[in-house]
Amino acid sequence: MFLAQEIIRKKRDGEPLSAEEIRFFVNGVRDNTVSEGQIAALAMTIYFHDMNLQERVALTLAIRDSGHTLDWRREALGGPVVDKHSTGGVGDVTSLMLGPMIAACGGFVPMVSGRGLGHTGGTLDKLEVIPGLAIFLDDDSFRAQIKRVGVAIMGQTHSLAPADKRIYATRDITATVDSIPLITASILAKKLAEGLDALVMDVKVGSGALMPTLAGSEALAQAIVGVANGAGCRTTALLTDMNQVLASSAGNALEVREAVRFLTNDERNPRLFEVTMALCSEMLVTAGLA
Ligand code: URA
Repeated sequence: MFLAQEIIRKKRDGEPLSAEEIRFFVNGVRDNTVSEGQIAALAMTIYFHDMNLQERVALTLAIRDSGHTLDWRREALGGPVVDKHSTGGVGDVTSLMLGPMIAACGGFVPMVSGRGLGHTGGTLDKLEVIPGLAIFLDDDSFRAQIKRVGVAIMGQTHSLAPADKRIYATRDITATVDSIPLITASILAKKLAEGLDALVMDVKVGSGALMPTLAGSEALAQAIVGVANGAGCRTTALLTDMNQVLASSAGNALEVREAVRFLTNDERNPRLFEVTMALCSEMLVTAGLA
């Protein structure tokens, strides 16, 4: 049994936290026994003191385990479960092309996608422009679609990494979003809850990116690769340009149309093509399919 204020004090004084302390705090976030003020205080002290690799892995796994995680063994899929995550940017519609392409190569892609952050649109925002498309699937339908076609994209349900929702909302109003250990845990907790064998990160670089400097993007990529592999998921990262819009279009409906035109070979913006193919080949190699 720990006390949230003692965990905050320990980190404030520059001592690393144990995996048990981190899990206690995160479970308290989920169960509402830790207050918004305590989340803010811990986030700020992590912002200033950083976290070592063990703490980062422990934070990621505790947030992942705060909710439901997917396990694909029951499905006996016969191929690796692999996903890609991008830190986001305008015109970044690659998921809509690479999901089907990886499925066609024998991978299984259970994408749980989010909404856009800041000025970017998320994959879920894009899919929502298709009238009548269900973007929230129940567990059985999601599993059945993965088994049948190899790819499914759906929105994050309340049961997936629920502690992240509260932590992120507090970071958003306390100037603690741009902390590498917190970004890493937030992104990876949700991805690792998908039960992946392999993950490829697309870390954007440039004026339209989450981390605007090259050094910041490199540090984030290295943190994510280190933590994900430390948590048992084979992970690699590419740094790709976000100094300009990635596709020929910008806007959710226009980008979905461009993705369809890409897949039917009617229009292939060269930059979008290059990034999509680079991510696909990285996914095939990281997942052991090539
Ligand atoms: N995306 C997330 O999901 N979390 C962060 O903290 C930053 C980007």
